[in-house]
Amino acid sequence: MKYSDLCIYYERLEETTKNLEMRDIVAELFKEVSSDELEVIALAAMGRIYPSSVDKDVGIAGKLMQKIISRAYGATQKEVVEKFKETGDLGKTAEYFCRNKRQRSLMKKDITVEKVFRNLRSLSETVGSGSEGRKEGLVKELLVSAEPVEARYIVRTTIQEMRIGVGEGTVRDAIAKAFGVSSDKVEDAYFKLIDYGKVARIAKEEGEEGLEDIEIEVGRPLMVMLAERSESLEQAFGEYENVALEVKLDGFRGQIHKDGDRITLFSRRLEDKTEQFPEVVEWARECLKPDRCIIDSEIVAVDDSGKPLVFQNLSKRIQRKYDIERLKSEIPVQVNCFDLFFVDGENYMEKDLRTRWKKLCEIVKEKEGKFRLVEHIETDDLEEANKFYQKALRENQEGLMVKNLDASYQPGKRVGYWQKVKEVMEPLDLVIVEGIWGEGKRSNWISSLMLAVRDPDTGEFLKTGKMATGMTEEEFAEITRKMEDLIVKEEGRRVKVRPELVVEVGYEEIQKSPKYKSGYALRFPRMIRFRYNKSPEDADTIERLKNLYNKQK
Ligand code: ATP
Repeated sequence: MKYSDLCIYYERLEETTKNLEMRDIVAELFKEVSSDELEVIALAAMGRIYPSSVDKDVGIAGKLMQKIISRAYGATQKEVVEKFKETGDLGKTAEYFCRNKRQRSLMKKDITVEKVFRNLRSLSETVGSGSEGRKEGLVKELLVSAEPVEARYIVRTTIQEMRIGVGEGTVRDAIAKAFGVSSDKVEDAYFKLIDYGKVARIAKEEGEEGLEDIEIEVGRPLMVMLAERSESLEQAFGEYENVALEVKLDGFRGQIHKDGDRITLFSRRLEDKTEQFPEVVEWARECLKPDRCIIDSEIVAVDDSGKPLVFQNLSKRIQRKYDIERLKSEIPVQVNCFDLFFVDGENYMEKDLRTRWKKLCEIVKEKEGKFRLVEHIETDDLEEANKFYQKALRENQEGLMVKNLDASYQPGKRVGYWQKVKEVMEPLDLVIVEGIWGEGKRSNWISSLMLAVRDPDTGEFLKTGKMATGMTEEEFAEITRKMEDLIVKEEGRRVKVRPELVVEVGYEEIQKSPKYKSGYALRFPRMIRFRYNKSPEDADTIERLKNLYNKQK
């Protein structure tokens, strides 16, 4: 497909805000392209370069993009910055200079979608010394061949700021509409493949049957099951006929795949964290009896006496790419297995929890303090449940998971087969979308952070208040470092960033507010911790904010 043809769809999408219309436009696009093209087009529709299962980043932020635009079109950097200030959009900035460029290109030729994606994907492979120049070359090559509208979308895709409002929900429904399959089946298939490109292709070529037949593959991550929040133990307990209670540990979700000697560990965001945890690999080889299996666990940091430590500690290990052996001894961990997806060719996800837990107990050979089964009881006695809960709280655990023993493993969906019970007023997981450089003592830091909730329908992030407290100096420095890489726009002391960073935020109250796009403002928001284990798609939604507001009333 010619990139200019795709851009016609982008423009149509940009012109509407109606969900159904967007779905129809995307469906029309999907129907127009061949199966081979569809894999990339399904991602391109969301402005994504990779499926979410691929942990890669093109590494071009606003500043570098400005430089590339100026070089591609022979404008000065100052002119580019000025135009950017005026439009607030690097895509439109590039479009403008492309239209008025001083250097006529001799290389003008049609660019294809495939060529754009080939170059953009090469960006993430371009590392090491001199990489900035080579990155520049890859994007410039596209920009000099581009028509103005193409330049707009190439730039926006590169910096991951698409502004067309197409999220995963739209793509899911568009695949369903284009190929006459149900949205639920599309979503279930996505939970196994974590790639809407592949799902779209199967829907087109094999229809609903093809989607149903997708097999679990050891080594390829699966979407995990999530929990709903419950008001109280009593309420959660009353939800199901047969209940299992487990301690809710505060660590990180570890999906462990064993294929003979090959162990892979995926985080909740389905990123491959195998290298960061060599001891988990060793234990999994030793403690998981089957030749091939996939299990679900919570990995917690522990102190010398084997007591769990708070999550903050563990995030160092999750993120670190070097010095792994040193961190391994500084921050020891413990694996707590609680569920299972697959054992030796058999899919356990459709079986009930009772069966899954029984099998899990059979296949895990516990290793004291290192690789264990989570504390789990099955009871219909609320008193006993409460004792279990109080004990967990006394041991400084987060709370309890209350699970329906008769339910299958439901990936990705908060359908209410698991409930979590915690003591405190629930904090929110919010995304940082803007910041303001501090003054005086704080002038080296971005010290005021604009927070936003997610709108799952449009993929947009809606502002809900500024946070300037709760952070230590170290955290201010860390957040500034991270935000600097994500800046897409600067205006005086104010910076706009790509919505990437998720933070857990406490607050005193939720108020209605016309000032923010979400319609709500948080009173006295304060930072609790970074949520490096969460992607922006995991952040709390506008729906939840509304519910909390109503509940509070
Ligand atoms: P929270 O912020 O409260 O940890 P969350 O938003 O990360 O929750 P939820 O689906 O609400 O995710 O809660 C489930 C999470 O709790 C899981 O992702 C897992 O990491 C963790 N967890 C800890 N202990 C257990 C357990 N016994 N069973 C299932 N999940 C557990």
